[in-house]
Amino acid sequence: MTYTVIANFKMNGTVGSTIEYGNELFDLLFENELYNTTIVMAPSAIHLAYLQSRLIGTRIKYGGQDLCGQAQFGSHTGNTSAEQLADLGCTYSIIGHSERRKNLGETDCIISNKLSNATLARITPILCVGEDFTENREGHTWKVIKGQLDVNLAKFDSTAKIMIAYEPIWSIGTGKIPSLQDVQNVVDHIADYMQGRGLQAELIYGGSVTGANAEELLMVKNLSGFLVGGASLKVSTFWPIIQACEAVGKQIKTQSA
Ligand code: PEP
Repeated sequence: MTYTVIANFKMNGTVGSTIEYGNELFDLLFENELYNTTIVMAPSAIHLAYLQSRLIGTRIKYGGQDLCGQAQFGSHTGNTSAEQLADLGCTYSIIGHSERRKNLGETDCIISNKLSNATLARITPILCVGEDFTENREGHTWKVIKGQLDVNLAKFDSTAKIMIAYEPIWSIGTGKIPSLQDVQNVVDHIADYMQGRGLQAELIYGGSVTGANAEELLMVKNLSGFLVGGASLKVSTFWPIIQACEAVGKQIKTQSA
């Protein structure tokens, strides 16, 4: 089992702090070979070029936090396209984060277009789906996520790679996480749904992941990693999550040897 851990810096950091972060992580990787974990850094778009010069050719991958759903080039002021991300060496992009859905009115249709543009540029989309607090309490979690997937994946190329991040909105930045059983139920539902549509995805979880809960969350079957916000902002809090993935990956390999 190999895991992917994505650092979503959101609108944080400066050129200096981003480069320093990359250097710190790179030093740790120099001393600690990773066998079971891929790291993906998603800083602000304006910092990607600085990371590229430091990380190109290393095993740390990087990507965007969003991309344009309308075009690859042209009159789209303020946007960054999938092709432009690919040109910088990005191989991933977060798409449909709940902060964008809620604060910027990003609809499921807009997200569907973003997924198409990502795959055209060979960027692996990290599609975020999840329910809010009320939807969760009223027992509508799967209904909400299925509704998002139905539209988000309507035009998705079945041969393309995709990651789906289950991110309960009420868990993001709150320190609250769902029970393992609840995460397992959603992961199972998404896996069945994808199989039913002839699609394949790596399924990850996001929402208040820390070094203290990562190992436990990895007990969820078919979970391939994490999308991390707050705890990714410092290497000192991000690294323990990577170590948890390494430890669990090693355990699984030993058991199956
Ligand atoms: C996120 O915003 O995608 C996220 C998972 O944030 P946090 O880890 O801070 O809950």
